[in-house]
Amino acid sequence: MEKISIIVPCYNEAEALPYFYEEVILLKKRMPKVEFEYVFINDGSTDDTLNILRKYAKKDKNVRYVSFSRNFGKEAAMYAGLEHATGDYVALMDADLQDPPALLPDMYALIKKEKYDCVGTRRVTRKGEPPIRSFFARCFYKIINKMSKVEMVDGARDYRLMTRQMINSILSLKEYNRYSKGLFSFVGFDTKWIEYENVERVAGETKWSFFKLLIYAIEGITAFSTAPLVFSAVIGVLFFVIAFIAILIIVIKTLAFGDPVGGWPSMVCILFLVSGIQLFCIGIMGQYLSKTYLETKNRPIYIVKETEKME
Ligand code: UDP
Ligand code: MG
Repeated sequence: MEKISIIVPCYNEAEALPYFYEEVILLKKRMPKVEFEYVFINDGSTDDTLNILRKYAKKDKNVRYVSFSRNFGKEAAMYAGLEHATGDYVALMDADLQDPPALLPDMYALIKKEKYDCVGTRRVTRKGEPPIRSFFARCFYKIINKMSKVEMVDGARDYRLMTRQMINSILSLKEYNRYSKGLFSFVGFDTKWIEYENVERVAGETKWSFFKLLIYAIEGITAFSTAPLVFSAVIGVLFFVIAFIAILIIVIKTLAFGDPVGGWPSMVCILFLVSGIQLFCIGIMGQYLSKTYLETKNRPIYIVKETEKME
């Protein structure tokens, strides 16, 4: 019998977990020919999440859990899940039912019948999300797709079902700064996209503040594109050329017409502009440098405190 592992990153999901578990358990009835394994990752929750997971693991032998020593972020949780999953196929699913488990049978059928390596989901609407957030999200996808060779699909969720072969290739990417949307696309393989309407979270609150998302976006850009570095170099050259022409004009003007050099205010403006751009470019470089710095430390992506086997 084939086995599907469902990986569920949980960070303070005590309110949503009962709904999720109830729903995901129904999959067994709809897909009697496959075996299921549920790998819950407790990403350093401060609420009752871990206790709930312990309880589930005790009564259901298909439930496994990995509990982190602190909050390492969803990327780390997904990586841990992929490492611990033993199934022939692995699905990533949020605990808040925003990734409808009901889609899984279709996803499985697509992989089995049409020989896809991966079936991803993308939401075509962003209902229930603050409009500003949707706007920035759209801009982000436009920008990153221009900058990076790796394709990022707008609205793509992390919810996807993958074959063992694809999972092993993702696990072979051991980078510390993980941006999974890019990694999934980087490893290649044939992906089929299923579209669905956005579903709002069943209980609890989103863990992503606008600021967190912004940082995540920068992570995505630095991880999959070096275009900002080229951009800063191009700006440098451009300013050099402009300055050179301006100097020539001033020298010629002074020699030919004897004009005194004037315009301190404009000078100050230019100084501000140029030093601003310089700092901006150094900032860009700093981003890459800091990522490199973190990568070379080779720190573990996550640290486990407890699993169901230790109980
Ligand atoms: N999550 C996590 N660690 C974090 C933040 C979130 O494991 O630091 C999990 C969270 O429990 C949920 C999933 O990632 O299962 C998606 O989070 P959320 O629903 O808050 O994000 P949104 O759907 O609003 O983008
Ligand atoms: Mg959610």
